[in-house]
Amino acid sequence: MGSDGKVWIVGAGPGDPGLITVKGRQALRKADVVLFDRLVNPAILLWARKDAELLDVGKMPGGQRTEQKIICRYLFQKAKKGFRVVRLKGGDPFVFGRGGEEAIYLAQKDIPFEVVPGVTAGVAVPAATGIPVTHRGISTEVAFRIGAKAKGSVEGKTLVGYMSVEGLKAFLQEALEGGFTRTSPVALIHKGTLPVQEMFFSTVGNLLKDTKGLRMKPPAIVVVGNVVSLRHRIGRQSKGRLSGRRVILTVSSELARGWREVFEEEGAEVWDIPMTQIHEIPMSKDWEKDLRKSDWIALTSGAGARALIHAVADIRKLAAKKIAVIGPSTAQICRQHGLGVDFIGRGLGAISLAKNWPGKKEEGVLHCTGSAEEGLLRNSLARRGFLVKRSVMYRNTAPPNPPRVVLDQLRKEGADWVVFASGTAAKRFQRLMGRPWASQIKVAAIGDSTARTCRQAGWRVVARAKDVSARAVLSAMLKFE
Ligand code: SAH
Repeated sequence: MGSDGKVWIVGAGPGDPGLITVKGRQALRKADVVLFDRLVNPAILLWARKDAELLDVGKMPGGQRTEQKIICRYLFQKAKKGFRVVRLKGGDPFVFGRGGEEAIYLAQKDIPFEVVPGVTAGVAVPAATGIPVTHRGISTEVAFRIGAKAKGSVEGKTLVGYMSVEGLKAFLQEALEGGFTRTSPVALIHKGTLPVQEMFFSTVGNLLKDTKGLRMKPPAIVVVGNVVSLRHRIGRQSKGRLSGRRVILTVSSELARGWREVFEEEGAEVWDIPMTQIHEIPMSKDWEKDLRKSDWIALTSGAGARALIHAVADIRKLAAKKIAVIGPSTAQICRQHGLGVDFIGRGLGAISLAKNWPGKKEEGVLHCTGSAEEGLLRNSLARRGFLVKRSVMYRNTAPPNPPRVVLDQLRKEGADWVVFASGTAAKRFQRLMGRPWASQIKVAAIGDSTARTCRQAGWRVVARAKDVSARAVLSAMLKFE
């Protein structure tokens, strides 16, 4: 992104703070600067960072409205300084919200921006009051119209058609009767906002001819009116480097905290389908004895670190122990629980930890691990003459299968990337989806041994991450985008 920041033009919804979108709230949480309007419920601003700069552009210090020119200039200046700027508007930013003007301005100035749609008052306020804006047998059309027109505004209309693919001919005929002309621009958008979105642009007079032979499938939205041409001026939005990509995360939910956001921020459509689940095992008195006797504790997974801390219950029992961990993310988990670390393995895997083992031969080692681990560390260390006890502290099981409809959709449409943090997960997911499917999807694997198992299970390993972190996985993937 260079040194420029980015602007998110976000719809805040009609009022109830719960009616902002998940994506909008995420952008708000990360913003350095927030410019908000008069209609935005201030309760929403509590989601902004405590140190974020909040600018009320609904009012000037004197009580008047801030001029549009000044708002645009603010957006430009803040983004130029490299800030993440959220422009928060009531309802949807492109419905009577001047969001389009701001987008065009940013496009002209080459400032990266993205539009995050919102729930518009015209639909939401009636709905929440028990008024459906359309109803079978009562209404087939709804109009959003301005009451008080601003000075200098011209008469012009937009027509948005739902369910219009089947009856396209009649729909266009009615558009002509309703005041549009044969040269009025038309957009037809199939499966909008999804990675599989397809768009088609034409005019009222030419759409049918232009789309002849193309199989126009529902669901689609048809937009008629001069606003369609504005897309050229708004241009390309900066939706992230994984925009239009579907990414499946199979990492366990314990490990994957915060991962989803990292990929979503890059514009990916994320499907969280964890393939592993951790159940900690209650430890016996014998285990406590083993613990007392050991000088070193070896941890080869974050789950192992957590299980250890839960099992001792009183962290003083670990007071004199030296701790060796497999890599930086396991170390991080230890530290989060107030546990220092004496040695962090470099490289990947238990074998490299054993090779660089920091202890002396006479020191006892307790390896706290999970049921899926096959004793690699103990065997490698034992071969080199170390005293190792291996304690299985948790079971790694397969979570219940995801709903059928999820799997069916993935089978039908595929995905761009699958992320695996363990070979077990790769094998399980392959069994679920089948080998032919698996062979078509790009895999980002964490670590060499995971990559190897993925390949054996028939996956196409493209990217390899060196670290167990979402950032490391992302940067490995981006090399192949
Ligand atoms: N972008 C907004 C509309 C901004 S124009 C949207 O998509 O909803 C401002 C007008 O929206 C107000 O004058 C009022 O008519 C309507 N409006 C917005 N929020 C509303 C609410 N909570 N209740 C009733 N009307 C509302």
